[in-house]
Amino acid sequence: MANINDFNFAGLKAIVRVDFNVPLNEKGEITDDTRIRGAVPTLKKILDDGGSLILMSHMGKPKGKVNPKMSLGQIANAVAAALARPVKFAPDCANAASQAEALNAGEVLLLENLRFYPEEEGKPVGIDKDDPAYADAKKQMKERQAEFAKTLASYADVYVNDAFGTAHRRHASTAVIADYFDDDHKMLGFLMEKEVTAIDNVLKNAQHPFTAIIGGSKVSSKLAVIKNLLDKVDNLIIGGGMGFTFIKAQGGHIGESLHEDDLMPEALNVMAAAKEKGVNLSLSVQTIAANDFSNDAERMPVDIFNIPDGWEGMDAGEESLKNWKEIILNSKTILWNGPVGVFEFENFAHGTGEIAKYVAEATKNGAYSLVGGGDSVAAVNKFGLADQVSYVSTGGGAMLEAIEGKTLPGVAAIKG
Ligand code: AMP
Repeated sequence: MANINDFNFAGLKAIVRVDFNVPLNEKGEITDDTRIRGAVPTLKKILDDGGSLILMSHMGKPKGKVNPKMSLGQIANAVAAALARPVKFAPDCANAASQAEALNAGEVLLLENLRFYPEEEGKPVGIDKDDPAYADAKKQMKERQAEFAKTLASYADVYVNDAFGTAHRRHASTAVIADYFDDDHKMLGFLMEKEVTAIDNVLKNAQHPFTAIIGGSKVSSKLAVIKNLLDKVDNLIIGGGMGFTFIKAQGGHIGESLHEDDLMPEALNVMAAAKEKGVNLSLSVQTIAANDFSNDAERMPVDIFNIPDGWEGMDAGEESLKNWKEIILNSKTILWNGPVGVFEFENFAHGTGEIAKYVAEATKNGAYSLVGGGDSVAAVNKFGLADQVSYVSTGGGAMLEAIEGKTLPGVAAIKG
């Protein structure tokens, strides 16, 4: 694959898969432009070299149909402002050849939402998975997807993927399109490179002790992550709602706390595997229990194994935080995914805020820290500590799949 740092785009047309899936309000105004700003370094490099840009993205879930509410036309002005130059708009992404052809150096063309075409995602529409004709429909759709990707590829000389948020999908624009460019004409953008390096820093090149902090609501959604990490980490901190399944599985009384009964055997397996592999699995020892799932509920610190009936664990107690602080401050590599309490409620956000502080302090002392997954990112932002950790990942699902040990199709299509 080519490297964006060394590549000279002068006189070339680059088609760039960006993630412009920005949130809009009812008036179609952008409420958070982080994703647009995230793509700017890559786009500026191409334009500054003297290349021209064809930008492609999805927005929302239009399910293969045109939906004006999800039109990328709504954000063309914001993209123009971010790049400080006019942006042309192609209202049909699969019929933009002449507009692409007409681009001069330094010009920008934004294609309409890729997902207005079912070929982008490549899933058959209007047919049930159990239908005997499904396999045929799927095969046909894959062929159509390849044609769609070929059309997109025909607009440009070079393909750049800078959309980490969709790197875990094998879509036309995120992976299939790469087949139509040779190794010297496809590359990761700066944002993608940073994400891939951050993940490699923890999964492949970690300094020890390596600590993973996994929180959030459910064991089921993070079991694959936990299992993969058991082979890599020295310490595994499990906090938040998911911790109660581990406590109940050991015979603890967890009152009304969130838990998954069917995952209790898996929780015990994880504990046994951690022991066998010499991983220090640190569960909560004390929780802040509440008598209602609300910010204004009554609160009290309780032993994690003895939560009274009618009460539920909502935040990490001081005793738990004391243990976790020591582990985190003694770590050289830290991966954090998921809050250790219901941090959306001000009165139960203390524990998650403390974890954010410990991670920031460890980073200041020389540790490498990666924070990823929607809610933990929201947490470091909430506590104003995003610039005090080593890297904050932009892709929730992609990041989780990478930590599960899966190959990301968007990365593999370029790196091979
Ligand atoms: P996830 O998407 O799995 O990372 O879960 C994040 C969610 O877990 C957040 O909305 C938190 O409010 C929730 N959460 C964390 N701890 C608890 C808890 N003790 N009880 C209920 N929900 C929790």
